[in-house]
Amino acid sequence: MTIFIILIAHWYLSLFFQTFFLHRYASHNLYKMSPTCEKVFFILSFIFQGSSFLHPAAYAVMHRRHHAYSDTERDPHSPIVVTNIFDFNKKTWLEYSELVKQFMNDEIGVKNVPRWPKFEKVTESFPLRLLFVLFYIGIYWFFAPSLWYFLLIPLHIFMGPIHGFIVNWFGHLVGYRNFKDREDNSQNTLPVDFLMMGELYQNNHHQAPNQGNFAHRWFEMDLGYLIAFLLQKLHIIQFKHQK
Ligand SMILES: [Zn+2]
Ligand SMILES: [Zn+2]
Repeated sequence: MTIFIILIAHWYLSLFFQTFFLHRYASHNLYKMSPTCEKVFFILSFIFQGSSFLHPAAYAVMHRRHHAYSDTERDPHSPIVVTNIFDFNKKTWLEYSELVKQFMNDEIGVKNVPRWPKFEKVTESFPLRLLFVLFYIGIYWFFAPSLWYFLLIPLHIFMGPIHGFIVNWFGHLVGYRNFKDREDNSQNTLPVDFLMMGELYQNNHHQAPNQGNFAHRWFEMDLGYLIAFLLQKLHIIQFKHQK
């Protein structure tokens, strides 16, 4: 039981920082925050994404390409263009790794993305990622009732890319469309997105990428937005567009 609580907690904590910091803030600049808050969220994202922490600027650039070229040859991850799951993940990974390399070597300059070069040297270090893996194994060593549970450890190790895969694959492949005229194949995969904190409202989000709330219809619920809205009430962030 403890293991499942740990797994669910890690799932939502890692996911929250992906949607709140990497997607809505780094990629779309949906809200403003102070430089100190930005650093705090940078650190928290690293802690909770751990071994699979995603470089915010590289994530942002790749995601902006996804919006600009959605479901065309130039989309970094379109299940319509690349229909084999293995090739789909490989293509995403190669493009992302190349961007990380370019940022780390100062070969690329992009506006409006959170950068913290000194800390990025820490987040991108392989030994630290390995330490996170050992930490996950340690947790299972203490709390898992049997060795079978160790099969769940890869979920922790690859949490960030697993979330990315679910959104990018299913979000452009299965679901319903509120905006049927869109040329891309974006979908709203779940009517009530309890699983991915609003990230699975891809059709809504592609239609209105600057809108804070990814939910459009009465039954849709964007948990990521609700938490961000609360953070605005607490004066931690400030939405640019009040909707
Ligand atoms: Zn999309
Ligand atoms: Zn987006």
